[in-house]
Formats: sequence, C-alpha cells, structure tokens
Amino acid sequence: MHNEATISGLAALADMVKRSRFGNHVFFNENLHVNTTNICTLACRFCAFRRGSRHHEAYALTPKEFISRIEPFSNTIDEVHAVGGLHPQWNVYDYANLFHDVKLRFPKISIKSLTAVEVKHIAKRSGISTKEALRILLDSGLDSLPGGGAEILVDSVRNRICRGKELSREYLAIHGEAHELGIPTNCTMLFGTVETVKDRMTHLDLLREQQDKSGGFLCFVPYPFLPDRTRLPEATLPSSEEIIRVIAISRIMLDNIPHVKAYRMNIGDDLATIAIKSGADDIDGTVGHEEIMHEAGSKVRTDYNRDDIARLVESTGQIAVKRNTDYTNTVVYRPNGHIHRLALPIAEQG
Ligand code: SF4
Repeated sequence: MHNEATISGLAALADMVKRSRFGNHVFFNENLHVNTTNICTLACRFCAFRRGSRHHEAYALTPKEFISRIEPFSNTIDEVHAVGGLHPQWNVYDYANLFHDVKLRFPKISIKSLTAVEVKHIAKRSGISTKEALRILLDSGLDSLPGGGAEILVDSVRNRICRGKELSREYLAIHGEAHELGIPTNCTMLFGTVETVKDRMTHLDLLREQQDKSGGFLCFVPYPFLPDRTRLPEATLPSSEEIIRVIAISRIMLDNIPHVKAYRMNIGDDLATIAIKSGADDIDGTVGHEEIMHEAGSKVRTDYNRDDIARLVESTGQIAVKRNTDYTNTVVYRPNGHIHRLALPIAEQG
C-alpha cells in the first residue's frame, strides 16, 4: 500500500476514515511552546536544537524565567508544551518543582511536558524507576506527555540516527507506564531519515500494539525530517507527496488512536491544509514560539492567533474546533470569536 496505491486513492480513503470519526471538523488548540533547555548530553544526528553546555548559545531556564515566558500568553492559552535537552544536572525534582510553580501561578494551564527519553534521563539521575518518576511528576502538576523522541521504533535505525537514546521498547514502556497512571500521551514518527518503508510499517504496528495494551495515546503526529544544521547527509528527505502519503497511511493503519495531527510547524501551512483533507483531523495550535523545527529549517509563522488557525481550517471547507489538551472540551470556533459548544460525533478515545 505504501508505494503502490495512488496518492489520490490513499488520501480519499484516509479522508473517509477521518470523516467517519469527526465529520467536517478539524481540531486546534491555543498553546505555547517553551523549551526548558537546549543543553543535551546526547547528539542525535537529526537534531539542530541541542547545544553542548559550554556553547555560547546554550541555555537552561530557571522556573522564574519559564513562568515569565508564559506570562504574556496566559490569558489565551490553555496548554504549555515544554520539552528540552537532557540536561546533565537536572533530575526529577527540578521538573517537579517547575511544574508545581507553574500550576501555582497558572492553575488552568495544562502542562504537556517531557518526552520519554527525558523521563528516562531524569529518572536515572534521581536513582528511581521511570514509573516512580512519572508518579512524582503527576503529583506535581504534569498533565500529559508529548510524543517526541519516537523517531523510528526500529533499533538499528535509532542506532544510526540517535545513538544513546532510549530503545524502541523503552519508548513504548514509558508511554505504557504513563497510561497506567492515567497520564495521556501523544506519539510521533520522524520519517525521511535513513529508514525503509518496512521500518515505517513496523513503527506504526508497534504503536498500534501498544495502544491495544495501554490505550492512552491521544494523537499520532507524523513529521518529516528537516535537514538544516543537522548531521545526516544520507537522509532521503521525503517529497510533499510522500508526506501526505505517510499521513494518509497513518490514519488508515492506526484505527485505535483517535487523532492524527498535521504538524504545521514542521510541514508548513500549505501542506497542512492538504493533510487535513487527507486523513489528519488536527492542525496543532497557535504555538507562539517554536525552536526545534525552526532550528532545522522551518519558516512557519509562530504568531498565529485562533482566528488565523480557524481561517486556515475554513479555507479547506471544514469547520475549526477549538479543543483542550485531551479533547474533552471542544467548541466550534468561527473567526472573530464566534463559538458554540459542540457535541461531536467523536470516535471513542483509545
Ligand atoms: S533530539 Fe533530544 S535527545 Fe537528541 S540531541 Fe536533540 S535534544 Fe538531545
């Protein structure tokens, strides 16, 4: 199916699957990305974001600095998305204190933070299990985990593009532990590096199996590799057609994961509007600030407000729906602030 099916046929089938779940609705949220630190003990070859601790551009935000980043957006956003590098000194309690302070200051803002490899890193630095780390973080205010760091869940590929990162089974196990504790998570796929089509299918199969076991994945976010300032010259770099193909196949294959995202920070607004007609039902959020994709070459604007996003969705003939982090609160949003609460024909989560 990956290569043989026509793109028009695949996109139409994926769109049918999406419509059977969500009709003409496309989700977005009002969120802000804040990166905690770009200092990282690893050096994944696809990563343009990380810096060594002595690099002149290295930074590590204090809780006060983190909170001051949120402050200007605090009246509009309902989610902060916070990921970063593997800081050589930080442990679970640094993040627990940060989340506690953020919740104290902004009790209504949902904290989506820490990829699986960050959880593994800070648990190890604290001498506790990843599950215990997640429990402490949950008690401190963590609401959900993003899906970053899945890359391709085939260890031979990981060994080439992100040696030292958690193994495929560790990524899945940490997400499974989060689900057991009631922490919803997203999952991702970074494609277009050195993986084969078979590797991509293995990746989707593993996510599907994990979802059958633990059921807490909310959204799958497939995104292509962006090459600027990275160290992966042999990467295959997918075409626009291939990106839409992967998104459509993801929607068709991942029948037990409720949402598929067109990550506009990575693929851009034009391709994102095609993606939401080809299986994706979510166009991400207002974002406010973004470093990871922009360091790697993204030129996508980060200053969109909810009207801009709603207009983007409406340009495809669909209806924009503003959501919270876990899609439990949804309202149809029309540009210029017209909203009405929505009883969606949403497929069951997980
Ligand atoms: S992808 Fe994450 S773990 Fe890998 S080098 Fe970049 S910041 Fe570090």
